[in-house]
Amino acid sequence: MADAIRARWATEWLKPFRATLYQMDPLLREEKKAGSRAKYWAQLERSRLKTANYKRTHPELASLHQTRRNRRIAVAADGTLTPDVIAALKQRTVHCAYCDSAMFPADKVTDHMIPLSRGGEHSVRNLVICCRLCNGRKASLSYEEWIERIDPEHRAKAVALYEQRYQMPLEAIA
Ligand SMILES: [Zn+2]
Repeated sequence: MADAIRARWATEWLKPFRATLYQMDPLLREEKKAGSRAKYWAQLERSRLKTANYKRTHPELASLHQTRRNRRIAVAADGTLTPDVIAALKQRTVHCAYCDSAMFPADKVTDHMIPLSRGGEHSVRNLVICCRLCNGRKASLSYEEWIERIDPEHRAKAVALYEQRYQMPLEAIA
């Protein structure tokens, strides 16, 4: 009983420092992220069903989304990404740009490293071919957020990919 009270008191007392601890302790940070990743995988199927169901019952939103997306692509296009170029990229890419898994042709999707919704270009420089899973997980995260989220074993490669494409350190992204 006393132990339980003491434990609860300690938790309360630590609350204001949690953010600082998270910032300062890389081990704690990785532990929390691993927890979030596990949670993500555990509920992936359920959230997929939920999204699919929502889309089915709200067809008008889907077309609105598509219209908006097409408009964004038109604005962000620099002319380097013709359908032929994209098809060729897909054809010659075998492994996911982010998780390195081997992809079946149907699993290959295009991904804007800096999302269109975050002001990214629709250009060869900003486009990679990745797997559906990574594309779904990355969604509209900024590249820094994605780097934080990606599995640690693939992090260095993802940073290098950005730096190679943009010829500047990742921290320099505005
Ligand atoms: Zn992947």
